[in-house]
Amino acid sequence: MKGFKDKKCKACKNDLPLFMFKENKDVNPDKICNKCLRTANRRKYRYSKDVASRQILAIALKAGHLIKQPCEECGQVEGVDGHHPDYDKPLDVIWLCRLHHAREHVRLRKLLAESDV
Ligand SMILES: [Zn+2]
Ligand SMILES: [Zn+2]
Ligand SMILES: [Zn+2]
Repeated sequence: MKGFKDKKCKACKNDLPLFMFKENKDVNPDKICNKCLRTANRRKYRYSKDVASRQILAIALKAGHLIKQPCEECGQVEGVDGHHPDYDKPLDVIWLCRLHHAREHVRLRKLLAESDV
């Protein structure tokens, strides 16, 4: 007879022993295992940097420190968005239209998936 119930991780769907879960509800409201939690936190960190650099970029645009350029891939002017190759340099952007911006992110995600061991 088992003394402890295993718990199912909501993220990876594995039945794991309780010690694989952080019991603090504030840290782990979704009941996901430590491993998935770590991955999620890493993503969140990336995401918050993304948001911060976007805000800085928006302010710089408004102030006229930066001017929107046509898409570097196709030259389109409509719906161009600043893409950050490096979130630590919020004003260092590549201008891309919606299509090419999405494509660039797909490419980066693939690259990241390959390097994320
Ligand atoms: Zn998990
Ligand atoms: Zn384009
Ligand atoms: Zn981007």
